[in-house]
Amino acid sequence: MDSLLQKIYKDISPLIGQGKVADYIPALGAVDSNQFGIAICSNDGEIYTLGDAHKPFSIQSISKVFNLILALELKGEELWTRIGREPSGLPFNSIVQLEYEHGIPKNPFINAGALVVSDVNQSHFASPRIAVREFVKKLSGNPNIQIDKVVADSEFEHKARNASMAYLMQSYGNFNNDVESVLYSYFCNCAITMSCVDLAKAINFLANRGYSNIKKKQVLTKNQTRQVNSLLATSGMYDEAGSFAYKVGLPGKSGVGGGIIAIVPGQFSICVWSPALNDAGNSLAGGAALESMTKHIGWSIY
Ligand code: GLU
Repeated sequence: MDSLLQKIYKDISPLIGQGKVADYIPALGAVDSNQFGIAICSNDGEIYTLGDAHKPFSIQSISKVFNLILALELKGEELWTRIGREPSGLPFNSIVQLEYEHGIPKNPFINAGALVVSDVNQSHFASPRIAVREFVKKLSGNPNIQIDKVVADSEFEHKARNASMAYLMQSYGNFNNDVESVLYSYFCNCAITMSCVDLAKAINFLANRGYSNIKKKQVLTKNQTRQVNSLLATSGMYDEAGSFAYKVGLPGKSGVGGGIIAIVPGQFSICVWSPALNDAGNSLAGGAALESMTKHIGWSIY
């Protein structure tokens, strides 16, 4: 495995730092783009790493996976009366489709969908942001995971676009709680900082038929795990899900902090991180690293 990681690094090192760090959230714009890390967690608990794999970064939209799993535990299939399960074909923060679809977002991994998921969790948990943070601590086995308040506050200050989606959904009756409170919970989830190692461990249950070896618990049923992986495969990479399936062929989720998680069902979970993004908002070197991995060992679900 270590020689595989070295090969990947050799393939993609010229790309590290290429692309653009997300700066629409000013606190993220200050991150050094010349960083790269990768961690692979096998279903029997082995961890393989390279580069900045232990360095915490802003998980951003990867939090949408944890947020969704808490809501699925609460609501099961009923959740899908409020959110679709189709790829959007539009940027992660697009608002246009909401009006055509009467306030029902296309899927839980675009911002509008994640806001509805946050609204579901807000109705249940006294503090949804603490609930999500505690959940990832247990899944990763790292009790020191924190919410970066500077990032959360920076997002809240620049909330106009997400707020407009939430209020539009409220106008269609698809929002039950105070919009500003849900927005702050959502931003706190996005502002959780975790390393590649933390994330590869935390999502391993998705590669392991729903069972977390770290939490020692069945997090999702085998069937729900298959369903979540199918949503990741079709909608996890913004409007680049098709190209990602073509090039990498694994269920995955990216975030504008430059992280990408990927699942090799039955075998491994992977997290790769490099902050500079391509035009679709996905880590440029991170995506290339996963493509190189597929090229070398063919871990595709297709
Ligand atoms: N907090 C970011 C936003 O709401 C998340 C974006 C992302 O990673 O896709 O815009």
